[in-house]
Amino acid sequence: MLRPDAYNYEDLMTPRQAMPLTPSEMSTDYNILSRKNYHTHTRLCKHASGWVDDYCQAALAQNVSVLGFSDHTPLPDGRWLSVRMTLEELPGYAAAVHQAQTAYPGLTVLAGMECEHVPEYLDFFRETLLGQFELDYLVGALHAYLYRGEWVGLYGNTITDDQLAAYADHHVAAINSGLYAFIAHPDLFGVPLRGWTPAADACSRTIVEAAVACQVPLEINAYGLRKKMVVDSDGCRHLYPLRRFWEIAAEYDDLQVVVNSDAHLPEDVWGNTDDAIRLAQELRLRVVNDSLDEDIRIRNAYHR
Ligand SMILES: [Zn+2]
Ligand SMILES: [Zn+2]
Repeated sequence: MLRPDAYNYEDLMTPRQAMPLTPSEMSTDYNILSRKNYHTHTRLCKHASGWVDDYCQAALAQNVSVLGFSDHTPLPDGRWLSVRMTLEELPGYAAAVHQAQTAYPGLTVLAGMECEHVPEYLDFFRETLLGQFELDYLVGALHAYLYRGEWVGLYGNTITDDQLAAYADHHVAAINSGLYAFIAHPDLFGVPLRGWTPAADACSRTIVEAAVACQVPLEINAYGLRKKMVVDSDGCRHLYPLRRFWEIAAEYDDLQVVVNSDAHLPEDVWGNTDDAIRLAQELRLRVVNDSLDEDIRIRNAYHR
């Protein structure tokens, strides 16, 4: 079992760094999508600020039309509690988000949860989160993966070729579960990566091919663009999104991509999601933000 202190999101705590933009990058020509953000946290996860209403008000102020809440799910055994709400806080979270669905007529609010893909808790995700608490959707997000029967966290570690393969396999299992409306930051392996390798290439292809086969969108996560950058053998880069991952993804015409802020502060409710959109457009990726809310609605109507 992974030690709790090995599973911190240490870089989430670093000061925000301004991303210098060139004048051409500041153009909003690429911003052709309506603003739909499906990835939002609250103070309950202990590394975000603000409550549900703060994000709704910020969304209205920033012309966001669809706001999906996806705070980090509690797990029934209380593991990894330093970066998520407790099980006791779950009813209050669900109630607050459901209340917001009627309190803000100008805004479509979706109730979701960001889930670590822990195989023994898939029934909890299905029966408790989607069933009992009537959440609209789940996000698969793998901050740790199973390697030879042990959990290994991405933060504070390096990653071997063998572990990259295990990380990819864990994604395939998550995608194949059919539980998740999309997979958050599938290129989070950029955190422990110390330079691109053939194994990183293979890992990327395995994840993308599973997503294409199951028609599960993969997320370009704008939160990574707001974090500190790192220098490795490839030069200065973002921890994630990884450009090379998305270049590979662009080879697959049928891949669906969603771009999200992954807001941990109300003022980031849209944040620099336009930068993620620009990356998608440069690489001609198929962004499905505009139809994802309707897909989620149809899927729920079918299952309930
Ligand atoms: Zn978070
Ligand atoms: Zn998140």
